[in-house]
Amino acid sequence: MYKIIDGKALAYNMRADIKTQVEKFTKDNGRHIGLAVVLVGEDPASQIYVRNKIKACEEVGIKSYSYRLDGAVTQGELEELLYELAQNNNVDGILVQLPLPDHIDSESALRIIPDYKDVDGFSENNIGKLCQGKESIVACTPNGVMKMLESCKIDLCGKKAVIVGRSNIVGKPMALLLLNADATVTVCHSKTRNLKQECLGADVIIAAVGRAKFVTADMVKDGAVVIDVGMNRDENGKLCGDVDFDSVKEKCSYITPVPGGVGPMTITMLMYNTYLSAIRSKG
Ligand code: NAP
Repeated sequence: MYKIIDGKALAYNMRADIKTQVEKFTKDNGRHIGLAVVLVGEDPASQIYVRNKIKACEEVGIKSYSYRLDGAVTQGELEELLYELAQNNNVDGILVQLPLPDHIDSESALRIIPDYKDVDGFSENNIGKLCQGKESIVACTPNGVMKMLESCKIDLCGKKAVIVGRSNIVGKPMALLLLNADATVTVCHSKTRNLKQECLGADVIIAAVGRAKFVTADMVKDGAVVIDVGMNRDENGKLCGDVDFDSVKEKCSYITPVPGGVGPMTITMLMYNTYLSAIRSKG
């Protein structure tokens, strides 16, 4: 019998804890924790993500500073803003909503964000530290997945974990986190031979492919833990994950739904990272 890992409930509880910690920080330090959110252009999906992040800030008592830049902003203008935010002591975290327009050199712009304000955990130094098992700011989505596994007391030591997807924001940091938790990790991608066989050997499958219902029941061994990072639309326009939930669930010990799984945890981890940045900046 499978159990559902309820990301919505976990996120709700974590946000309540974060709110308490943020209130304490504000009282002890006589200032708010601040998150700067930079949005360039009018991309509808990005606007929704930014709105949700600002709403989450309000929920936990973090002060958000919202910067909406025209899609035609120059590299220089964007970089000037990021330099200002890097210097601003009221800003503990800086988030630039991706993707940036094609004419912007994203890497060069993002490099301006100091590592200690990189609340997305995307910087080369933060990834490098994660790779070496050192304290760092960890990318929100994979870190949220780890919290979900922890919440169910799933012991990863010596387990075979298969990640489908090798992006810099999900697959790769996920692999490092699982490795740091003593799992034996395989990262699969579009060139992997015999993906089904790889998945069938897994105690834990993390699907981060970006293809609706890509992981099917014949790819999952009995008793596996299946975490679905995907956010796609099915043929009826309904939100769905990378896992064919209805058929796969019967094989699982634990499974995450979409919606209500990994998604709510991602923004929660952003709040957590911003709080951690504020605490660390004090030290
Ligand atoms: P991405 O950058 O597009 O990466 C997709 C990965 O899947 C790539 O590594 C790709 O391999 C691999 N892949 C594609 N087709 C494959 C196939 N047929 N067999 C095996 N591997 C294949 O995507 P992403 O940014 O990591 O996001 C993945 C999914 O997670 C998306 O649905 C996204 O919307 C969702 N997401 C959700 C959250 C959340 O908060 N829930 C956060 C971030 C992302 P190659 O490298 O070889 O091309």
